[in-house]
Amino acid sequence: MTREEYADLLVKNEHDYKYYEDKYPKRDLPEGAIVSRYAPSPTGYVHLGALYTSFISRKMSKQTNGVCFLRIEDTDQKRTIENGVERIIEDLAKFNINFDEGVTLDGDKGNYGPYMQSKRGDIYKAFIKKLIIEDKAYPCFCTEEELKHDHDRQALNKERLGYYGIWARCRRLSMDEVISKINNGEKYIIRLKSKGNFNHHFKFKDEIKGKMEFPENDQDIVILKSDDLPTYHLAHAVDDHLMGTTHVIRGDEWLSSIPVHVQLFEMLGFETPKYAHISPICIEEDGKKRKLSKRKDPEAAISYYHEKGIPYGALMLFLETIANSNFEMWMLQNKDANPDEFKLDFKKMPIGGTLFDHEKLISISKNYISKLKAIEVYDMALNHALEYDKDFALLLEKYKDYSVSIFNIEREQKKPRKDIANFSEIKSQVWYMYDELYKPVNYEWQKINSKDDIKEVLNTYLKYYNPDDDKNSWFDHMKEAAVSLNYAGDMKEYKVNPDKYKGSIADFSTVIRVSLTSKCNTPDLYEIMRLFGKDRVINRINEVIK
Ligand code: GLU
Repeated sequence: MTREEYADLLVKNEHDYKYYEDKYPKRDLPEGAIVSRYAPSPTGYVHLGALYTSFISRKMSKQTNGVCFLRIEDTDQKRTIENGVERIIEDLAKFNINFDEGVTLDGDKGNYGPYMQSKRGDIYKAFIKKLIIEDKAYPCFCTEEELKHDHDRQALNKERLGYYGIWARCRRLSMDEVISKINNGEKYIIRLKSKGNFNHHFKFKDEIKGKMEFPENDQDIVILKSDDLPTYHLAHAVDDHLMGTTHVIRGDEWLSSIPVHVQLFEMLGFETPKYAHISPICIEEDGKKRKLSKRKDPEAAISYYHEKGIPYGALMLFLETIANSNFEMWMLQNKDANPDEFKLDFKKMPIGGTLFDHEKLISISKNYISKLKAIEVYDMALNHALEYDKDFALLLEKYKDYSVSIFNIEREQKKPRKDIANFSEIKSQVWYMYDELYKPVNYEWQKINSKDDIKEVLNTYLKYYNPDDDKNSWFDHMKEAAVSLNYAGDMKEYKVNPDKYKGSIADFSTVIRVSLTSKCNTPDLYEIMRLFGKDRVINRINEVIK
């Protein structure tokens, strides 16, 4: 029996590997273009780490005029969940992560598909056959019991675990022995015939982590499983070769697979792509850094940000500050630039895990929201409320123009107010603007807090208040009212001679502010009063006087 016939006996498929090499020609792209992929397994929701990885992969290819494709790695069918693929695509699209090629909601897009590994069985088998013909792979008939038996002995003797060297029982089977086992109907899988020596180290250069050394792989890893699908390792090598990936960009939990992956590329006769292993986002626990965990940390779920109402765009900026530490500085220096213009650099990516910085996220979010138009803030607030606070949503809808005007206070100007951090808190920031919500439980009086003084301030102010005032006359009237009660109209003068006055114009206007909103800190009081209109202003002040 020739080795070709032997390979045909072991692995059944349609086309040989040359057919596939011809089917997927090399990509014709400009020099330096990065072909990258995002290659998730459809095992659950998209978490923050996955979003971060896909963002970097997507952006690195875009900024080099390359290609980024979505490949679904579903060779482990036991872990695949229903609608997993749709969820990934939809979740990423919310963050503007769309792919040039790959799996889409309407099937595959691109010339290098299928992009779903479970549909590529024939392709993998063609290359597995090639390995068998070249005596680089062999069938393994070991049963669960045999494997467990060896594993226990290795553990007992404190030896390295796995299927290698003398432990690789089936490696020594002759062709005749294999043929007779197959004729007996014995089940088998296919393993790689590793030529590696664990005591030899090889050099490896990661685009992010730099130069490293690894022991060679000597494990005869499984490449074709009993369900007739390849393992992830083999599929990754075959796919990235045929799909023309130049850069494998992925989480650094895959770094330990490098000896196997590099070896597979070599044994398959493929050019090895470049690898960029991304360090994780971490949190601190008991004084130690650990990777954000899908199971333990709410921040790991994208839904967490959705519920909080942190805009997706802000979250992406946050991730970009983690990806390249010079991004924040660039943003400061290029205030009006589109973040897409910033070029990510592998060399500036963190080598170790980065701590998740809540405060930074909040400040980025505030800054992001401050730059939105009032109508955009309104839409986001409404969308959030529709999902999480129906009553507030009704108010926003009922008073649409009024609400947009509220969100427009100190907005759409050079130095917009940066007070909204997320949409789950927005109601608690604007509630006093709506009579339906306004039930002050506590007036935050400041310096002027005696009943008599407050009453005096309010009664006096009502005499000076004119709802038709423009901002300047409004302020002049406030000042006149204050001065009439011996509050200093001029802050500088007040600072020099505080004892001459009952207080300052600031103390005086604070009483008005607190009477109207119950809060001592609000956006521009003139704007608030203008939006309130005469009746609401007078009613609320009279309410306090009473
Ligand atoms: N399917 C792997 C995952 O779920 C992808 C690893 C890779 O990108 O090579 O993370």
